[in-house]
Amino acid sequence: MSNAIYPGSFDPPTYGHIDLIGRAAVLFDKVVVGVLVNSSKTPLFSVEERVNMLKRAVSGMDNVEIRAFSGLTVDFAVECNAKAIVRGLRAVTDYEYELQLAQTNRVLRHDIDSVFLTTNLKYAYLSSTIVKEVASYGEDISRFVPDFIAEEVKKKFSEKYN
Ligand code: ADP
Repeated sequence: MSNAIYPGSFDPPTYGHIDLIGRAAVLFDKVVVGVLVNSSKTPLFSVEERVNMLKRAVSGMDNVEIRAFSGLTVDFAVECNAKAIVRGLRAVTDYEYELQLAQTNRVLRHDIDSVFLTTNLKYAYLSSTIVKEVASYGEDISRFVPDFIAEEVKKKFSEKYN
């Protein structure tokens, strides 16, 4: 079995993430999407909410599992019996940070490699941060995330500001 993990904050998951999960699921026998608990950022959604949104978004993908994790990504990879860490590369701006992460992870665990998928051009500009920024002004985000996630984001912002 070749397992891979796809770690991230997914706050919230976007069409870019979902596209990448689908493509990773074709390349590997099993993909475990790891939702990071101890992010240095303050998330809009709790880890349970992010896990549930992802579960719903990938419900048709049989070899994809969604799990929360905290601590080091390489330790999560070992726990999932994964030899690969999948990450998405949107633009050169992602490259420097991703290279540093990948090299650090390889120093920590030389038997686990990072695999980079270039993002779908359709979603190359998308980030969770941009989605939240647009939504915070009350703008429709259904082009960036599935409808049920757009609803959840809308709800969060109305709770936050009302
Ligand atoms: P992190 O906080 O670790 O950057 P993100 O949730 O922002 O987590 O992203 C998780 C992974 O998904 C990263 O590898 C990131 O490059 C990738 N990613 C983010 N946005 C997109 C997108 N629009 N298309 C494809 N991959 C993306």
